[in-house]
Amino acid sequence: MQEFTLMGLSILGEATIRETGAGFYGVNPSNAEQLEPTFYSATMQDIDDAARLAETACAVFSQASGAERAQLLRSIAEGLSLHGQAIIERAHQETGLPLPRLQGELGRTTGQLRLFAEVLEEGSWVNARIDEADRERKPLPRPDIRSMLRPLGPVAVFGASNFPLAFSVAGGDTTSALAAGNPVIVKAHPAHPGTSELVGKVIQKAVQQCGLPAGVFALLFDAGIEVGTALVQHPAIRAVAFTGSTKGGQALMRLAAQRPVPIPCYAEMGSANPLFILSGAMRERSEQLAQGLLASVTLGSGQFCTKPGVVFLPQNDSAQFLQILQRGADALGQCGMLTRNIADQYNKAIQHRLTEESANLVTDIAHASDGTKAAVGAAAIFNISLGDFLAHPELWEEVFGPTTLLVQYDAENDLLQAAQRMPGHLTATIHGTEKDLDGAQKLLQILETKVGRILLNGYPTGVEVNHAMVHGGPFPATADGRSTSVGTQAIFRFVRPVCYQDFPDSALPIELRRANSLGIMRLVNGTLTRNG
Ligand code: NAP
Repeated sequence: MQEFTLMGLSILGEATIRETGAGFYGVNPSNAEQLEPTFYSATMQDIDDAARLAETACAVFSQASGAERAQLLRSIAEGLSLHGQAIIERAHQETGLPLPRLQGELGRTTGQLRLFAEVLEEGSWVNARIDEADRERKPLPRPDIRSMLRPLGPVAVFGASNFPLAFSVAGGDTTSALAAGNPVIVKAHPAHPGTSELVGKVIQKAVQQCGLPAGVFALLFDAGIEVGTALVQHPAIRAVAFTGSTKGGQALMRLAAQRPVPIPCYAEMGSANPLFILSGAMRERSEQLAQGLLASVTLGSGQFCTKPGVVFLPQNDSAQFLQILQRGADALGQCGMLTRNIADQYNKAIQHRLTEESANLVTDIAHASDGTKAAVGAAAIFNISLGDFLAHPELWEEVFGPTTLLVQYDAENDLLQAAQRMPGHLTATIHGTEKDLDGAQKLLQILETKVGRILLNGYPTGVEVNHAMVHGGPFPATADGRSTSVGTQAIFRFVRPVCYQDFPDSALPIELRRANSLGIMRLVNGTLTRNG
């Protein structure tokens, strides 16, 4: 196996760019050391070249069969497994995430690629619909009408810092956009540039091996936000997929909407993932609840978009719960964060919550600043009454890191008011006994309108990648609550329906021809069938 050498250069089709733009380094968050090599920002010319190359590649790639696109995804998965050790080691240096976690994330990333390959090979996802002609219909004959989903065109992808593999260069956005038949240009996340380059090289090689046009994939580095901004504004780009902060996502949404030709921007942003503990559950298993919640809040140092950041709990019977949570959080000490910037923002948000937002700190964060250069933050659990919480709507906002806000309520009916006022989130969780749930139907109905995934007696961290998963939610959790960025339904973000009227069989896409040679499921004259 030929190992890849890091060069710090953007990948543009079969080539790499020259060392012209501003330089920057990856940084080890555990000791602030700069990691070699220097990475060079792409120039405006590079962005234009990448976008034009993608536009040209689109003409061929959009016509590639499902089997050909599946081969590309399988080839990327194989390459990632082959170079897995080097990728994981670099990701560990750049993010401080533990090796077993990164090993798991690599497995998730390759599994995701293979799952989409299966969807393409089966083929029915294209939603083929056929309404045959009726030339005898009176007063007017009915034309032959056939439709299916077709790719949008080149997609710009922005990954997040907290998933250097599964939500980055070969993550869910890239995988679903490629699966749909769109070339992809990734703007590398500056928090893991070396990991991005290694993964980018795997994709570049897979594109070559599959005999696809070079412009199917590009990876652009940037020391700041200029490259991403110009990429979203480039006329050849047809859609944007972003995973990251609310601030970043909303900036890109504005750019995409303000273009002369606006394009969809699927921004998956932050979320506070409210968790509702009902009184029966608290009486029945407060110790278990406290331990489960603590593990979920501090998993990955709280740097998960699904971390439960607001927890409603009954005022009564919660003394033991609070004590266990407090002791557990205090015992954790310093938690390693992904970057110095994220650690600084976290520590600032904790201070702000303490001084400006009427929340009481119930844990000890005296050890928060240890004077070293390491990116760290201490677990912080806050407590507030429901009345004070409702007076501070800003408390619904995500604080990215190992913290959560406990909101104590007197009566379960009061929860309805909180649920009604809550903005969109990725998830909501209810902990309750069967009896609790009988009385929680109204709460459930409200939550259904506010989130993409409702969990019962579980914890939202940990997102399965499968056919049924919904990782989305109404704004501001995402830009468009009708979509998911995880699971095979993510493909529908990057396609649009196209209808063919009165076409001869030979001129139709293969999925719509009379014989149904692919054997896919189609809606023919209103009946789902695999028959031709
Ligand atoms: P981030 O700072 O928003 O960065 C994401 C990417 O977008 C980076 O490449 C960043 O480049 C770029 N970017 C940010 N603002 C931009 C702007 N105004 N113009 C152009 N590009 C811009 O987010 P992060 O720190 O990596 O990730 C943490 C956040 O992601 C958390 O809030 C977490 O909840 C969220 N997240 C959400 C999901 C989800 O599925 N909903 C999943 C994982 C994480 P620069 O760094 O150069 O600015």
